[in-house]
Amino acid sequence: MEGIDFAGAEYHKVVIIGTGPAGLTAALYAARANLAPAVFQGPEPGGQLITTTDVENYPGFPDGIMGPQMMEQFEQQAARFGADLRYGTVTSADFSERPFRLVVDEETPVVAEAVVVSTGASAQYIGLENERRLLGHGVSACATCDGAFFRDQEVAVVGGGDTAMEEALFLTRFASRVYVIHRRDAFRASQIMQDRVLSHEKVEVIWNTTVTDVLGDKEVDGLVIENVETGDVRTLPVQGFFVAIGHKPNTEIFGEQLKKNEMGYIITKPDSTYTSVEGVFACGDAQDHVYRQAVTAAGTGCMAAIDAERWLVGQE
Ligand code: NAP
Repeated sequence: MEGIDFAGAEYHKVVIIGTGPAGLTAALYAARANLAPAVFQGPEPGGQLITTTDVENYPGFPDGIMGPQMMEQFEQQAARFGADLRYGTVTSADFSERPFRLVVDEETPVVAEAVVVSTGASAQYIGLENERRLLGHGVSACATCDGAFFRDQEVAVVGGGDTAMEEALFLTRFASRVYVIHRRDAFRASQIMQDRVLSHEKVEVIWNTTVTDVLGDKEVDGLVIENVETGDVRTLPVQGFFVAIGHKPNTEIFGEQLKKNEMGYIITKPDSTYTSVEGVFACGDAQDHVYRQAVTAAGTGCMAAIDAERWLVGQE
């Protein structure tokens, strides 16, 4: 923020940071409340749904809809009512006084009376080139979103925490076999979740093993896995690969200014989207590590816009 001159900076009543389902729903509601919100799209316009294919669990789309198409429709709906959608990433924020100060792309100063944080979370991936290439084509970080595509097929989950256990158990509803690949010889997940996984007849755990490559031309058809104790390398033929090694909320830019939990998720006051800073509201996956669904993100986005609007009225 140093060296940025805020005199003459663009002024907005409401700035919304992030354009996943939460941010775009907040944008729609804020726009319809005549607040003309400026909405900064960030590094991944449309959010995590951009990397999924069919979305079958968003109400109102009985035949499903492609993730990117759905987000385009969210955008159009918000823009129709005057949301000002902008390319650009908010790279720093100063909430110490009002109006709040934001910097976009490290150079453009913007000030805002109220801020809605909808920066989402990012699934952690192993970091393999083919994992990235086949994302949405057999590689996924969301069994709830994509599990149903693997009916009667074999799939693998990597990870040893509660998320991996949940993903594996969910996948047993569809897949004929679920491999859980873990880099150590013990899970870190809660005992009850471990027990469910370990006793499930469809699940086979592959201990002390890492995934070193994802195979497949257009769709995943296998994994290369390596036993870290013996050095043995083999191919595991699977059609689905679910990465469940954790999510990270995109909240670093706010530093200590907003209260967060130990995982970095913004803490909101009960039954609201109020954060620890008056005038800053948080919604979607940046504050929710439990549900993490498009529809719940949209719901809290709506709440954030309503909270912001009422708060602004209270300031007048
Ligand atoms: P997590 O607890 O941090 O577990 C991540 C897992 O991924 C660990 O087993 C870790 O292995 C493994 N891992 C990390 N990086 C890896 C890599 N590069 N390659 C291979 N494996 C890797 O994350 P989480 O499971 O998403 O859970 C996050 C938090 O949410 C936890 O507090 C969890 O209890 C909570 N949660 C709760 C529920 C529930 O209660 N129903 C559901 C989901 C999540 P190591 O074990 O070797 O480190």
